[in-house]
Amino acid sequence: MFVRRICRQAVAMVARNQPLSSWRSCSSATHLPVDLFSEDEIMMRDSVAKFAKEVMEPLVPQMDEECQLPKSLLDGLFANGIMGIEIPVEYGGVGASFFTSILTIEEIAKVDMGVSVLVDVHNTLINNLFRSLGTPEQQEKYLPRLASNMVGSFCLSEEGSGSDAFALATTAKADGDDFVINGSKMWISNAEQAGVFLVMANANPEQGYKGITTFIVDRDTPGMTIGKKEKKLGINASSTCPVHFDDVRVHKSAILGEYGHGYKYAISMLNEGRIGIAAQLIGVAQGCFDRTIPYVMQRKQFGRSVWNFQGMQHQMATVATEIEAARTMVYNSARRQMAGVPFTKQAAMVKFLASEVACKTTSKCVEWMGGVGISKDYPIEKYYRDCKVGTIYEGTSNIQLNTIAKLIEAEQREMGHGI
Ligand SMILES: Cc1cc2nc3c(=O)[nH]c(=O)nc-3n(C[C@H](O)[C@H](O)[C@H](O)COP(=O)(O)OP(=O)(O)OC[C@H]3O[C@@H](n4cnc5c(N)ncnc54)[C@H](O)[C@@H]3O)c2cc1C
Repeated sequence: MFVRRICRQAVAMVARNQPLSSWRSCSSATHLPVDLFSEDEIMMRDSVAKFAKEVMEPLVPQMDEECQLPKSLLDGLFANGIMGIEIPVEYGGVGASFFTSILTIEEIAKVDMGVSVLVDVHNTLINNLFRSLGTPEQQEKYLPRLASNMVGSFCLSEEGSGSDAFALATTAKADGDDFVINGSKMWISNAEQAGVFLVMANANPEQGYKGITTFIVDRDTPGMTIGKKEKKLGINASSTCPVHFDDVRVHKSAILGEYGHGYKYAISMLNEGRIGIAAQLIGVAQGCFDRTIPYVMQRKQFGRSVWNFQGMQHQMATVATEIEAARTMVYNSARRQMAGVPFTKQAAMVKFLASEVACKTTSKCVEWMGGVGISKDYPIEKYYRDCKVGTIYEGTSNIQLNTIAKLIEAEQREMGHGI
């Protein structure tokens, strides 16, 4: 009913030659486009974009070559509030919204996806788990550090449990007031820099996945070791390491949230995390596109700019449309999260779609650049290498499709069309 009224109003405005830009003054048009931002969101986005351009961009070739994130850059991320976006002001954070985190991740990824992984995991998984589940003591102890100088890592995956994450084998055995953790985690982002690790371990294997509990483990805890850093196809500024737990003893006060609820927290945080990954991917796609088009416009073949060939323009217009569609879905998923309405399907869809769009965009950009597209003297081939991981981490594309299909099935059952 409401939508029909809005539509009628829009049609009437067009018929009267009234610009739709005056839409906001209509009393019934309370819902704004998802890509109209608040002043705070614009301020944070622009300051992050400036930081990415001026501070990060000159470091990108070196980070890619040396597979290392400079300490000065990490310090800069903290100093500019980029590592404490949603942490409340009283704990030293920016006190901004989930949507602002998404805009920040997108802006960073336009310049370097590896750095955006660090920012994404730290803000959307670690900070938000502490914010939503931490006891007052845990928040007092960790939030000010997470906002100012301590990186966090999220330890779920293992050698034998990736997509089937809750088949994890790491155990946490009760011993008096302590728990003793044993096992190994694989593919842990930020592990090289992290000061704190949120570790999913099974405290009651007899209960299956319902024994999975989240433990806060400090880096210097005896028995914990960080393994050799993975050499990867891309996102080289991001460290990815195994993390080993050999009789790691933590007090029961190190449990985050409730005993045996770790699987619930992982599911809910990874849903939000998927919007973050999608933000990385639209950032990569847009960043790569923006750096390709000027070259295409100035490159001349057959006596004219290659941009002027319609065969080129149609491809570029198609890709621009696909990026815009994915971005709109990212923003809408983030707004749904903030509005407290279900977003599991949207998060899975946008993570899947954005990874497809980013892989296609970067591949096309390499082609549109011709030979220099694969040269390391140009930035394009790096975007192409970086984006592939978007189809893998925080749930592979197949796992997103499984989730989407499961939810479609449930909707059909609700409508009485079950199989
Ligand atoms: C760079 C990087 C950083 C990472 N960071 C972290 C981190 O910080 N913390 C963390 O806990 N983990 C992290 N991971 C792990 C990541 O989440 C897993 O790699 C991912 O979930 C896939 O698991 P897997 O690698 O074991 O692949 P597998 O699960 O072995 O999958 C192999 C293939 O089988 C397919 N497949 C599996 N099951 C199904 C199914 N049911 N239906 C259809 N197809 C299926 C998959 O789609 C895939 O194509 C990271 C991974 C990478 C590469």
